[in-house]
Amino acid sequence: MEQRYYQKDIETMPYEQMRALQSERLVKQVKHVWDNVPYYRSLMEKKGITPEDIKGVEDLHKLPFLTKDDLRDQYPYGLLAKDLKDCVRIQSTSGTTGRRVVAFYTQHDIDLWEDCCARAITAVGGTNEDVCHVAYGYGLFTGGPGLNGGSHKVGCLTLPMSSGNTERHIQFMMDLKSTILCCTPSYAAYIGEALKERGYKPEDNSLKAGIFGAEPWTEAMRQDIQKSLGIKAYDIYGLTETSGPGVAFECQEQSGMHICEDHFIAEIIDPDTGEVLPEGSKGELVFTSITKEAFPLLRYRTRDICVLSRKKCSCGRTLIKMSKPMGRSDDMLIIRGVNVFPSQIETVLLKEGYTPNYFIEVDRVNNTDTLDVYVELSPEMFSDTVKEIAKAEKKLADAIRLMLGIAPVVHLVAPKTITRSEGKAVRVKDKRKLHD
Ligand code: ADP
Ligand code: ZN
Repeated sequence: MEQRYYQKDIETMPYEQMRALQSERLVKQVKHVWDNVPYYRSLMEKKGITPEDIKGVEDLHKLPFLTKDDLRDQYPYGLLAKDLKDCVRIQSTSGTTGRRVVAFYTQHDIDLWEDCCARAITAVGGTNEDVCHVAYGYGLFTGGPGLNGGSHKVGCLTLPMSSGNTERHIQFMMDLKSTILCCTPSYAAYIGEALKERGYKPEDNSLKAGIFGAEPWTEAMRQDIQKSLGIKAYDIYGLTETSGPGVAFECQEQSGMHICEDHFIAEIIDPDTGEVLPEGSKGELVFTSITKEAFPLLRYRTRDICVLSRKKCSCGRTLIKMSKPMGRSDDMLIIRGVNVFPSQIETVLLKEGYTPNYFIEVDRVNNTDTLDVYVELSPEMFSDTVKEIAKAEKKLADAIRLMLGIAPVVHLVAPKTITRSEGKAVRVKDKRKLHD
């Protein structure tokens, strides 16, 4: 397919030129924050630095970090850098990991955010001839509004469906011939399942691409969705704190997401020491927004774990790429001393031929951690005998043990007994914790 760009000059800008642009914007942004956000100014003062110390990207490491705790402490206005009269919108996190964070936008901020989403839609082949079916939630959550704005900019016919009401999704998708589907990967998998149940084959819909993000998903899940919907499935990444989806997006190479570096400078740090790690290292992703006016976070620690790479991409974009985050550092479970990400379990399940409908329960019994994995049987397996099911449970438990190094107890349960998610899936219950 012919490669299209939404903002070609930026998306294919040579690295040196991009770095110069970032430096220029960073210097201006640090001054803006220093002048308007007393909280961050005091963090800088504590480190003994002033805006004069930041002359370009090479000085970025001197700036203090911001964490989600800072945002929660400073709720609601503590990090606002513009007068409220200049702001036109708020959005808020979905609260996956605790108290919500509120972010503010000027009209200019919204405009740039929507540009990022338009880049993502164009990168998957979207044009004004497409019907873009936005099934992310609308409202405080950034998914719906972000992709909606991007879709308008590209000139697609936009279907502002929001999440929920699967019946209506299917009706509109078939009647209006949606060509691009935007939603969480778990909801995409569910729509695929719902279409199949109604007797539709993958080729019966008009979809060609999907833009799925807002939660971690595995390569195996990508294959699964591509097959069930008959599409190409692309990843998109973002967080409310940096505007929303579109901070990074996948191109047709489907091997990592290009970061919109003209708006966000990315770093990878060691989550324990805060030390900046060289390109190619796995660590915590940190973002500095260099164009945002109302809520310009400097060195914000995302808690997402990934790898950055500047390897040349076949799509022609020069923007640095981030790997799929394997989960956030706070999704990571430590079970019997071993680090476990739910995405690792998901990979095994899909490889063993199960659906991505699963639930993980962790508990502590007699001072020992227990790991129970509930997985739905496929309708074909459902008629198996108790003995066969027990054998399948043992086989799956062995495969998970090989991946994690610790043995789970696997429970194969009847089809449709694990709750489907219309937004971000909740897949873990850690009974050892007293909160979340
Ligand atoms: P919350 O923190 O309440 O979930 P957000 O809705 O702002 O709030 O979600 C942002 C977070 O969602 C990111 O920090 C990241 O952990 C996760 N996320 C977003 N997109 C992706 C993606 N493509 N892959 C993995 N995780 C993602
Ligand atoms: Zn690319």
